[in-house]
Amino acid sequence: MNAAMADLRKEVLACNRCNLAEKRNHVIFGEGIDNAGILIIGEAPGRDEDIEGRPFVGLSGQLLDKILAACGFTRSQHVFISNIVKCRPPENRVPTPQEAAVCMPWLLKQIELVDPKILILLGATALKYMMGPEHRITRERGNWQTWQNRLVMPVYHPAALLRDPSLKQDTWEDYKKVVFKYRELVNPEHYSAHV
Ligand code: SF4
Repeated sequence: MNAAMADLRKEVLACNRCNLAEKRNHVIFGEGIDNAGILIIGEAPGRDEDIEGRPFVGLSGQLLDKILAACGFTRSQHVFISNIVKCRPPENRVPTPQEAAVCMPWLLKQIELVDPKILILLGATALKYMMGPEHRITRERGNWQTWQNRLVMPVYHPAALLRDPSLKQDTWEDYKKVVFKYRELVNPEHYSAHV
């Protein structure tokens, strides 16, 4: 982790800016490489993440890692993973617009530091809070969008795939588009056994 990211991490881990600070066990800063070509944005930490202090470690996270592996991506070499809010909302409820707004500067700073070519938005909440409340994941998944001169790919959240495995086929097509774009913009030699 570079010095700027380490400084940011220190600040975020001490954050008490919203009411989600009250019941959390850990602030989940995010993880991955500092200069990742892809930054993945989820909704919020869940129970497993709050206990372990790392993003996407529960069943959803394991599925996300499998999908990334099929793309030839790993957390340690290709991506940075973060969330709209960094502390777990009670009972895993969706973060409120106010919580998201208060936490957003941390995510924006991460995006600025990582400077990724591609943002992957996992699910409806990440899509709405990044792109606007009128956006719909069912309509927009798999379609490239732009956010402040960066390419954005909205995809279903892995938790949705666990609830409804029939979404997996479409989702795989969406991630294939990310791999092609990654080769175009980041590394033409990027290897994936499946794409
Ligand atoms: S959710 Fe974000 S703004 Fe709220 S306390 Fe946690 S880090 Fe701070």
